[in-house]
Amino acid sequence: MTNILSSFYEKLRDSVFVSEIIRHRVALTKKGPEYIGLCPFHGEKTPSFTVNDRKKFYHCFGCGAHGDLIKFESEISGISYRDSAFQIAEKYGIDKPTFSKAEEESNKQQDRLHSIMKAVTEFYISNMNPSIEKILSDRKINIETITQAKIGFTASQGDLINFLKNKNFSESDLISSGLINKGKSGHYEFFRNKIMIPIISNFGKIIGFGARALGDEIPKYINSSESIIFKKGESLYGEDVAVAQAYKSGYFILVEGYFDVLMLRQHGFGEAVASLGTAVTINQLEKLWKTAPEIIICLDGDNAGLRAGHKVINTAISNLTSDKKISFINLPAKKDPDDILQEKGKIYFEKLISNRIPLSEQIFRFSSAGKNLTSPEAKTEFENLLKSYSDRIKDDNLKKNYQLYFKKRIWELYNGVTVKNKGNINSQAGLNEFESLNALILALIINHYKKIEEKLLDDALIKIINSDSIFAQFSSYILDYKNDESNNKADNLLEFTKNTSFYKEFEILSAEYKNSIPSNLEMGNMDDIMEFYMNKKYLLELTGEFSALLSSDSENLEKRTEFYIAEIKRIKEKINKYTLKLF
Ligand code: ZN
Repeated sequence: MTNILSSFYEKLRDSVFVSEIIRHRVALTKKGPEYIGLCPFHGEKTPSFTVNDRKKFYHCFGCGAHGDLIKFESEISGISYRDSAFQIAEKYGIDKPTFSKAEEESNKQQDRLHSIMKAVTEFYISNMNPSIEKILSDRKINIETITQAKIGFTASQGDLINFLKNKNFSESDLISSGLINKGKSGHYEFFRNKIMIPIISNFGKIIGFGARALGDEIPKYINSSESIIFKKGESLYGEDVAVAQAYKSGYFILVEGYFDVLMLRQHGFGEAVASLGTAVTINQLEKLWKTAPEIIICLDGDNAGLRAGHKVINTAISNLTSDKKISFINLPAKKDPDDILQEKGKIYFEKLISNRIPLSEQIFRFSSAGKNLTSPEAKTEFENLLKSYSDRIKDDNLKKNYQLYFKKRIWELYNGVTVKNKGNINSQAGLNEFESLNALILALIINHYKKIEEKLLDDALIKIINSDSIFAQFSSYILDYKNDESNNKADNLLEFTKNTSFYKEFEILSAEYKNSIPSNLEMGNMDDIMEFYMNKKYLLELTGEFSALLSSDSENLEKRTEFYIAEIKRIKEKINKYTLKLF
């Protein structure tokens, strides 16, 4: 039954443009692939409300309002999600699903279960007491987080049963909720003496609960059982908040536990989600990829976390494309994200995010870790292992690029070029020198687009796309934008970029630009300025490779040393020439 409704919702999203629904309420202006207008959900004078027909979402950069066409109509008219869907279907002549009697009954039961969950949540919240709040505050969870996440408490047996009976819910609904069981001597509550954390769907409905033991009892965590509204393999804890955040930042952060999600959220990383005590499924990953192109896996730094990470790779790999990515933050042994945030704080975690490891590199690292790769047999086994990963990628282009990447890394590994020197972290955004240069080059392109020679521009963008830079995706987006001939967008690249989902990257670029471009720089000759920064980046790569080469015992060392010395000299001269000319 749920499937009939969800495929009906899917059909609506596919058949009616979200902009079509919204333009009845909001004046929209076209800006590149998106529309922009004044947000109807908060008062504003300059538009930060965007509508994207391709992604089938609206998103407000001001207040975070976010959703599909059905949610928009439901929020604006104050009706339920389902009624909103029916209303849209009626208006656009789309057939509403027909339900058999049994299906009708199931729909009604779903509504009743949602009401039970809502009532139970309020009941649990009313049971909160100072000693529970103390337990949470000892874990550094603050009161705002507790309130926002609707955390409550369940004490002794019988209270909930009486509460629900007084509300006139039927016995069978109580049992279907998964919160109450029937035993030989009558009804009993599934949870007792637990901190109760509601699991909320991305449409804001409470569908189940995670429960945490107060002390060190085992199991520490337990979830309510599945029901017609709660499917563990399809839901994620935290998605109610994460969807809007991830739309903005372009990634989700997948962690293991409820408290990791809450602690991340409390530090401003609302993109955090956790699977519900089961292995991550492809349905969950696909659901996340619909909102954001990247899922950053940040599991506990222990063997269980490593195994779970491996499982995610095996689940995801065949479905990967250039906009369905996964990447990794590898935490130190025995640490989880909650620990890291408490010990090292927000800025440190931001650095972990900006230095996250792409899947290709993650696979390379664990495949080569601890191996003695000197014999032809060991090398072959290792190369076959890498191949077994790239072979499973269905997207041909991506597969080819994984193969190329592994080939390059194998060469580096066998030749002792294992350290990649990317310079010191020196910028305010925690970027290393290499990233800073990438940021500067992109900032120059965005600000002075029309003054740069086309070939140089393409070359600069493609180099960033092909590096494992955090700006790779942004760069590829600018390249697409540039090559898109429609509606003469070239003039307002700067304005346009501000309103895309690359907002965070854009902020980093702007900060780098302000801090690093000398004020005496004459912006007339943009080509020279671009050459100057691109050569600086190339020099950094060369010196990094060279120093790694020197600390290795590779073959042909002499010949390769000669090459690096000559090349470094040549690039340094080039940079000097530009410096004299420009500054
Ligand atoms: Zn808004």
